[in-house]
Amino acid sequence: MRTHYCAEVNEEHIGQVVTVAGWVSSRRDHGGLIFIDLRDKDEVIQLVCDPADNVEAHKIAEDVRDQYVLVATGTMRARGEGLENPKLKTGKVEMVVDKLVIENRSKPMPFDLNDEKVNEEIKLKYRYLELRTQKSYDIFKLRSKATIATRNALDELDFLEVETPIITKSTPEGARDYLVPSRVHGGEFYALPQSPQLFKQLLMVGGFDRYFQIAKCFRDEDLRADRQPEFTQIDVEMSFCDQEDVIKVAEKLISNVFSACGFDIPTTFNRMTYSEAMENYGSDKPDMRYDLAMVDVIDIFERCDNEIFSSIAKSPKKNRIKALKVPKGDEIFSKRQMKGFEEYVRKFGASGLGYFQMKEDGLKGPLAKFFTEEDIQAIVDRCELEVGDAVFFGAGDKKLVWDYMGRFRIYLAEIMDIIPKDTFEFLWVMDFPMFEVEDGRVKALHHPFTQPKSLDYEDIEEIESIAYDIVLNGTELGGGSIRIHKEEMQAEIFKLLGIDEEEAQEKFGFLLDALKFGAPPHGGFALGLDRLIMLMTGSSSIREVIAFPKTQKAQCLLTQAPSPVDAEQLKDLSLRIRQQTPTA
Ligand code: ASP
Repeated sequence: MRTHYCAEVNEEHIGQVVTVAGWVSSRRDHGGLIFIDLRDKDEVIQLVCDPADNVEAHKIAEDVRDQYVLVATGTMRARGEGLENPKLKTGKVEMVVDKLVIENRSKPMPFDLNDEKVNEEIKLKYRYLELRTQKSYDIFKLRSKATIATRNALDELDFLEVETPIITKSTPEGARDYLVPSRVHGGEFYALPQSPQLFKQLLMVGGFDRYFQIAKCFRDEDLRADRQPEFTQIDVEMSFCDQEDVIKVAEKLISNVFSACGFDIPTTFNRMTYSEAMENYGSDKPDMRYDLAMVDVIDIFERCDNEIFSSIAKSPKKNRIKALKVPKGDEIFSKRQMKGFEEYVRKFGASGLGYFQMKEDGLKGPLAKFFTEEDIQAIVDRCELEVGDAVFFGAGDKKLVWDYMGRFRIYLAEIMDIIPKDTFEFLWVMDFPMFEVEDGRVKALHHPFTQPKSLDYEDIEEIESIAYDIVLNGTELGGGSIRIHKEEMQAEIFKLLGIDEEEAQEKFGFLLDALKFGAPPHGGFALGLDRLIMLMTGSSSIREVIAFPKTQKAQCLLTQAPSPVDAEQLKDLSLRIRQQTPTA
């Protein structure tokens, strides 16, 4: 007789003899009768061990403890009136146990598997125990569905799944590389790929036309809540395409994957330029589940009597004065709260936060005295203020204002609790700048292989690229670009990035060479699979959707990696440890 999965057993089995196997999730001894909840991968079944039915099975049940592995055989019967559990697929039945085998015992659990608040370190040390919970199983079931749906959708669109190397030469995506020392070539190193970017471009030069890979990427960067040193991307590239073709593939892929996972989402997504995103929402990944857009008021403030504001307003190219209206804000927030908001934005470099309240008798607030009546009216009109609204102002360097006002917008939405749950708001952010200048150094905003719209420019930061990001609920899900396919242009971009010919040859010679041999026009994108699953499952951290994740300090608490190696191994690799970096 085959062993049933718990979820397969239902009223149809009443009267039949069935065998199930699993882990004890709880055991209740009702003086005589022993009830055991036995759980396998995705369901729980109730076992009843009654000495009146079978003395031996009951005797074994007395020995059973939580998380023991059991195989139970018995006759299924209906649960008594009022004892049904509608939450379980098996909730109408129970097994009267005839034969109970303890396949394995278990030490007491080091933490309560069902307590979500348990310290994460202990959960990560015993990650396999956490994986035994229903919650984890459901996450990985969905992840598997999404991965398979990805393969199916791209296969249908004629994409070829191709693997690219893991130990390779560095492919820069803006982070530090993980290096692998070579034994055969002492003193030389491979790098783990930050993404398959250059290899996928070479596959296009190789004439493959459409490629995809569910690829592991490795980036040694300071870890934040939703980052991991290794993560998985759905990586896609195609030839003879323009931006619209790539966007169509991405939308088809995403909508198919969501639908395979049981979510209904639109088949095309809204779009916004980078500049609209920054000017209106202070972020290149605005959360569009709520509005709270900012408006520009720099021209009105230029005329005010406050020297600080009017002087900021004199440089409208470099600076911004942004107003953020909160409908009914004056009614919702106390004066103290309004002042508290200033402290919040100061943490992100703001020197202050002005505000007005829209009262029955007009616009009031500490700044009002600096404006003429007409300009007060201009503010009311521009911000479309109604009685009861509040409006906040950020002023200063544009990048700073975008940043802190963008954060403030999210902060307000959170404290006002206006972010709808269980909705997916997708957004394309397009027309990214090609470069950004930081401390006088030119950097590629996307990556250096992205095609600029043109190279005629006065200000290098004004060059736009054919790059697009896909944003979901305020999280960057992925992005991509049309690539440079001509060697001269690629060389020019390296030059602008301050990479001289020798360095370009040494680092990217193979790419520059390939572009000389009839490289087709091409472009693509990559989506973060872990982030996608995190958002789909409403998980609070990316670690929940990775089977064996690392901590924020890039450690694996389960295996204790990273760890020292033998002197012999170091010698083989021609390495000597000069000093131990203290582990934080
Ligand atoms: N390689 C890029 C990344 O990893 C994505 C792309 O341009 O396709 O972010």
